Amino acid sequence: MFVDYHTHHERCGHAVGTLEEYIEAALAKGLKEIGLSDHQPLIHVPHREGSAMLMEQLPGYVEEALALQQKYRGQIDVKVGLEGDWVEGYGEQVRGLLAQYPFDYVIGSVHFLGEWDHTNSAELSNWDGRDVYETYAEYYRQVQLAAQSGLFDIIGHLDVIKRFGVKPERSVDELLEQTVLAVRDAGVCVEVNASGLRYPCAEQFPSVRVMEMMKFHEIPLTVGSDAHQPGFVAEGFATVYELLKQVGYTHVHGFTGRKRYEIEI
Ligand SMILES: [Zn+2]
Ligand SMILES: [Zn+2]
Repeated sequence: MFVDYHTHHERCGHAVGTLEEYIEAALAKGLKEIGLSDHQPLIHVPHREGSAMLMEQLPGYVEEALALQQKYRGQIDVKVGLEGDWVEGYGEQVRGLLAQYPFDYVIGSVHFLGEWDHTNSAELSNWDGRDVYETYAEYYRQVQLAAQSGLFDIIGHLDVIKRFGVKPERSVDELLEQTVLAVRDAGVCVEVNASGLRYPCAEQFPSVRVMEMMKFHEIPLTVGSDAHQPGFVAEGFATVYELLKQVGYTHVHGFTGRKRYEIEI
């Protein structure tokens, strides 16, 4: 039985569909659990249209998600989450925000290096003139800080810096190993995010190599589609769950009230 712990919806401004449409899509695909995890309102930069919901929309999002959780009880387990942004220097503000809501789980993602959203195709020109390896190194340094922050239950799309196919010439193995160790020491879960299969990098986040390192260190994993339209719920899951089994995982993890539990796969 599959679970999907990473979905968005129309409030963020770059996804389509209502929360209920994502739940219905999950039901139609026979998922056991569906996690709602829209983007956190931006904190470290002023609101950008089409980037995330406004701060004023957050209470309504959580309220609607909680109501749907009740409505679908007995049909599918709806988990109420958020995809938070890790930006160095803003951890306490995020902590204050998260404390106001009864989330089942919070994903910690590094979308931003400073004001640059490196996960946004519209901002690809920011790579121009950058040292690619140093940019990767900074990205992974931030992922390690996100893991250590204690703010998040799940590290989102751990190697998403590869999304648009910009790769350094030298090996990044050392950065990956440091990051996997930081994640292990912090005791956080990592998601296997199937959306990478649809991007120029053409593989899930993280790579099989990283999944193998994580298995070696017995790091708990969960799975997400990062769907930005209802039709993409559970997209790529046959591939991703098969990889998990090949790497040796027999369980993924779910969350209720920010407590982790095992789900057999
Ligand atoms: Zn998004
Ligand atoms: Zn993300």
